[in-house]
Amino acid sequence: MVLLNNLGYPRIGPKRELKFAEENYWKGKITRDELFKKAADLRKLYLQTQEKYLIDLIPSSFSFYDTMLDMSLMVGAVPERYKPMTNISNNTEIDLYFAMARGYQKDGLDITAMAMSKWFDTNYHYIVPELNADQTFQLLSRKIIDEFNEGKQVLQNKTPKPVLIGPVTYLFLGKEKEKGFHRVDLISKLLPVYVEVLSALERDGAEWVQLDEPCLCLDITEKERAALETAYKTFAQQCPKLKIMLTTYFGALDDNLAIAARLPIAALHIDLVRSPNQLDDVLDVIPSNVILSLGVVDGRNIWKNDYKKSLDLIERAVAKLGKGRVMVAPSCSLLHSPHDLDFETDLQAEIKNWMAFSKQKLNELKELRDILEGNSNLLDANQAAIESRRLSKLIHKPEVKQRVAAITDKDAQRNSPYAERRKLQRAKFNFPLFPSTTIGSFPQTAEVRSWRAQFKKGSITKERYEELLEQETIRGIRIQESIGLDVLVHGEFERNDMVEYFGEQMEGFVFTLNGWVQSYGSRCVKPPIIFGDVSRPFDMTVRWSSFAQSVTNRPVKGMLTGPVTILQWSFVRDDQPRSETAFQIALGIRDEVVALEKAGITAIQIDEPAIREGLPLRKRDWDHYLNWAVKAFRVSSSGVRDDTHIATHMCYSEFNDIFEHIAAMDADLLLIETSKTQMKLLGVFAQFKYPNEIGPGLYDIHSPRVPTKEEMVALLEKAVQLLPYQNIWVNPDCGLKTRGWEETEPSLRNMVEAAREMRKRC
Ligand code: GLN
Ligand code: ZN
Repeated sequence: MVLLNNLGYPRIGPKRELKFAEENYWKGKITRDELFKKAADLRKLYLQTQEKYLIDLIPSSFSFYDTMLDMSLMVGAVPERYKPMTNISNNTEIDLYFAMARGYQKDGLDITAMAMSKWFDTNYHYIVPELNADQTFQLLSRKIIDEFNEGKQVLQNKTPKPVLIGPVTYLFLGKEKEKGFHRVDLISKLLPVYVEVLSALERDGAEWVQLDEPCLCLDITEKERAALETAYKTFAQQCPKLKIMLTTYFGALDDNLAIAARLPIAALHIDLVRSPNQLDDVLDVIPSNVILSLGVVDGRNIWKNDYKKSLDLIERAVAKLGKGRVMVAPSCSLLHSPHDLDFETDLQAEIKNWMAFSKQKLNELKELRDILEGNSNLLDANQAAIESRRLSKLIHKPEVKQRVAAITDKDAQRNSPYAERRKLQRAKFNFPLFPSTTIGSFPQTAEVRSWRAQFKKGSITKERYEELLEQETIRGIRIQESIGLDVLVHGEFERNDMVEYFGEQMEGFVFTLNGWVQSYGSRCVKPPIIFGDVSRPFDMTVRWSSFAQSVTNRPVKGMLTGPVTILQWSFVRDDQPRSETAFQIALGIRDEVVALEKAGITAIQIDEPAIREGLPLRKRDWDHYLNWAVKAFRVSSSGVRDDTHIATHMCYSEFNDIFEHIAAMDADLLLIETSKTQMKLLGVFAQFKYPNEIGPGLYDIHSPRVPTKEEMVALLEKAVQLLPYQNIWVNPDCGLKTRGWEETEPSLRNMVEAAREMRKRC
């Protein structure tokens, strides 16, 4: 029989138990022992669930926050600034760990957190290792070893499999905190600690150890390849009894296949969901003593596995290698899928029948093996579900498909080039120099959120809810008028979330009750699920934008989320290319843009904060992605007259390497986050003489601190060094929904004062 191999399981808890326990621990509401007890219960549940589904290789490693941070603590890569924490008597390892993740402001200390970054192309964030030229490593945390030993006690008759981030990926994803060295060169100092851990595991009876090296699916250089060779040779020599499983995911090995095949390992895991085509290449070169783990069940999405497709891959591998050398697995850790579909009591039965969450994916692994062993009924039932999805009227709307097929280049283009639009817009709006605006949302106070909660519970009527929102909107408009902003916003008080709000109003989306996925630490997101052809049956935002416009003489911007961001922050269909879904959404947003214009809205902002994070992992795929992503944005924004002012917004983004695509979005105004980098991001706009208007963010909205007029003038002075002053707008970095009014009002007042000062100077 083939073995079933799981790479990782969601750890936040079926009902987010770990999140609540941690947050209570941080607030001092529960003790450390209570937190540990909760975590141990969850670990036990995970191990037993996997055992129940007959998984052979069950991962024992758990994380309180993030696995990269676990590694940093394991190898003692604790930045200098946390040293004072060791003097605080009742602090233990977990407190240091949480301090590294979240910062520490207690006991007279004020230590900043380590930075976070997106884990490959997922929405999960890892804590970035901080590395110095004279970095040393020593075994600090024995958590991985302890969890393995704990797992041995829990499992009836299996040995759990510890999981570590491999040493090369660990270093590769780290950051040099000073110049003059390359982080991957630290490998020789790092390896002894890994060897110490692996030896301890070997001694304690581990059979398999999983080492994740997803950097093998990226564009890496000879330096990383050499480091991989050194590392895995060392492990094979030092821990000869241990079976090392090298796992890769999120892409194909491609040009790194040769090196992966050369390493002295016992098993190699490949992602066949992202890259089914790599199977034959891998089968050609895999050495005869290496087992191949086939990632056939999608760890990144919520759809039922198509057993026929998976079996085709598995059978090809079995034919070549024999059952003894094949394992069946999810494509990557199940961390990126929600826990359990059984909790979804509100989903339409037909749609629910197309889905599988983590627990169901374990069952899929088991069923795939059962089918291989001859149980064909399971295959029939699965194929019935797959067929029902393929043909469902709920999914397929011919009129939507036809409309996407009929999109022309003209649909993706404004009527006139920017220079002409600019003349018309300037005549119409007659803005002062340095026009001021905000990014859209205003404080979502506890009160605003409580209205929505009451409305959802049914304890206030729709009329009452809308009346309260109208009052809040008017209040926001009056505040903006009194501050003297030039283009106002309605404040987005009616929105829970910038994607969910639109998903709820479009067809082709469903929402879950409990489909939580860890985003970072205790934070989870509940992405909408795009299951079918997307259309927009009715106006989505016109009511609130028109209302806001009706109470003021100043222009109020219509406020929309762009197609790429809606796509990126949802679980998407796997039965058509992402681009197809993006264009369907784009047409819905386009209709909304046109409806806003018709309703008398003269300026419209379409946010695309997720454009950059959608970039493929390999550079050679970037252009293809950016071409359709930018086109989707342009389809959504080009249905209007020349004198309608179109803005877009992106949070912190490095534009240097994708500049021509950002420019090709051709928004009349581009609002970006720049305050933290002191306007450095504007350099590339200057270099290419970007002609359109640009609003460089003047203050960080993540902090309650009120910025001074002077510091914002100083930033604007930098901006006018780089760009024509006639093109510059004045605005914060991002929306203000997480802020309070106490700081929002004075901050915006200072910001408008800064604009006035600049008008005098230019
Ligand atoms: N308009 C949104 C807001 O102001 C934009 C949020 C974002 O960029 N993430 O909240
Ligand atoms: Zn933003």
